[in-house]
Amino acid sequence: MKRTTIDTLTARQTALDESLSRERLDAWQLDRLNATLRHVSASSFYRRHLAGIAPLNSLADLRHLPFLTTSDLRREGLNLQCLSQSQIARIITLNTSGSTGTAKRIAFTAGELEATREFFREGMENLLSPEDRVLVLLPADRPDSTGDLLRNCLPEKGHPTFIHWPPGTPQQLAAAVEAHDANCVIGLPQHLLSLAEALGEKHPVRTVLLNSDYAPPALRQRIEARGITTFLHYGATETGLGGGVECDHHHGCHLREADILLEIIDPQTGTPLAEGETGEIVLTTLRRRAMPLIRYRTGDSGALNRQPCPCGGITTRLLDIHRHQGCDTPQGFLASRQLDDLLFTLPGLLDYRAALAPEGLHLEYLAVEEIPPPHFPLPSGITLASAKRAAGWTPKHTFKRILRDLR
Ligand SMILES: [Zn+2]
Repeated sequence: MKRTTIDTLTARQTALDESLSRERLDAWQLDRLNATLRHVSASSFYRRHLAGIAPLNSLADLRHLPFLTTSDLRREGLNLQCLSQSQIARIITLNTSGSTGTAKRIAFTAGELEATREFFREGMENLLSPEDRVLVLLPADRPDSTGDLLRNCLPEKGHPTFIHWPPGTPQQLAAAVEAHDANCVIGLPQHLLSLAEALGEKHPVRTVLLNSDYAPPALRQRIEARGITTFLHYGATETGLGGGVECDHHHGCHLREADILLEIIDPQTGTPLAEGETGEIVLTTLRRRAMPLIRYRTGDSGALNRQPCPCGGITTRLLDIHRHQGCDTPQGFLASRQLDDLLFTLPGLLDYRAALAPEGLHLEYLAVEEIPPPHFPLPSGITLASAKRAAGWTPKHTFKRILRDLR
């Protein structure tokens, strides 16, 4: 088993090199955290937000700092910036779903974008063999977007890299793989599933990187049934696009710990949870200077494992990653993850959308062939009002699972 390349990256970025250990990394992170706390006094928002905060004596002291929320980011915007405009290389705007509120904007320096490229370059070595060719099923038209960064940094390691976007039909995905003779494909889980289902008996794909906040186990199994090894990546614009990636052991994403420090909290009380318990992921950046984030509530859920990995790596792993999405029903909260876990077990189902109405659940699905409604096993108390196969793959549309309450 290959040791995670995220350890090599972290050892280099922290200058701990050969001496990298959990204890030394914790001490380095505490040092960086205190340096970040000093640095953010350059921001008018943080001066107010963190007034009276003394240097921390341990990483556990982080719990005494206030949270940073999405509404803080929206409301305060550039007040969080700690450098002058001339030192900012890129501002990434995250459009909100719906029309309420201003968009979130996150600023990066050129060095911070380079750190992300470094993470992609090194992290991808977990799943690439020398001379592997890579197909990226993500848009790359915006400079410094994930697709654009991957296209630019992977060739530096000798991997020819191609963009295919929009995804198109499953057959078009398979044709793109053949055309580029791609051994590794990066994309959203549902696009990778569609591709896997459309590949012939003999195909060049060895590995795929699932770029998502949640990858249903059933979906991964269906891709792996095609002789393809799946790796999960966790990241968001707030983490600097990249965040963590699985190793050969596939038990959690090894985190880029020179750049991010994660905590897990109880979403109701805000209390930090013990290692291994699942709760909301709270992010603190360690080397960012343009717009550091301190105790940012991501809205994502996960659990941490800080024990050494069987691969030999000591970097913290993030497990059980998902987003708390779904809706309340008379029977309780129905998580979209529950539906994912059920529906992706159905042979031939590629993606779906769902809406809940008083008479039951309305499903629209993409599938290789018609799936009769009685074959949908639903959580108890939820009845299926209607299920129909979508007319076809809409090339520009990413089929996001939408579960909304229509009552
Ligand atoms: Zn590992």
